[in-house]
Amino acid sequence: MGTDLEKVLISKAEIDAKLVELAAEIDRDYAGKDLLIVGVLKGAVMVMADLARALSSEVTMDWMAVSSYGAGTKSSGVVRILKDLDTDIAGRDVLVVEDIIDSGLTLSWLISNLGSRGPASLEVCTLLRKPEAAKVEIDVKYTGFDIPNEFVVGYGLDYAEKYRNLPFVGTLAPHVYGG
Ligand code: 5GP
Ligand code: MG
Ligand code: MG
Repeated sequence: MGTDLEKVLISKAEIDAKLVELAAEIDRDYAGKDLLIVGVLKGAVMVMADLARALSSEVTMDWMAVSSYGAGTKSSGVVRILKDLDTDIAGRDVLVVEDIIDSGLTLSWLISNLGSRGPASLEVCTLLRKPEAAKVEIDVKYTGFDIPNEFVVGYGLDYAEKYRNLPFVGTLAPHVYGG
């Protein structure tokens, strides 16, 4: 795995510090509320696990799996629900937790889908955001890091299902993509 990497973009220590900051904001904003955090599988597994443990508030957790990418690095724009929520979110305060927003296609689809279920509130927290995301009309309340337009892996993010278990966010050497 080591030789596949080009560089570390965001270290584990930087991620941890940022999640503590975001958790403090979320604790403050949802004080007295019954927050449901929704992780989008599989990429958001690490950020959900670490963010949830950084929160002081009692929250409930649920998961959704959608597919928008194949094994490659380009968004198809076509979103399918692979696993739906177990929770009825009508009247609930919902915070969607994402690993990364790139084109924003997946997220805008998800937000309109979840929004149609009548939640009391619906906000988004993402660990990473790429420049393209700024062009879409999605209000992202909590953002960890704005990153350059590079394909990243690690901390939940994969390339062909590999590298998700790296504890940091990094980029891959060109030879991995067959370059
Ligand atoms: P979007 O629909 O915003 O273009 O992409 C959303 C999904 O595409 C993310 O949840 C993630 O699964 C995948 N994705 C987008 N950019 C990257 C990237 O740089 N690296 C990896 N591994 N996945 C990405
Ligand atoms: Mg995601
Ligand atoms: Mg992926």
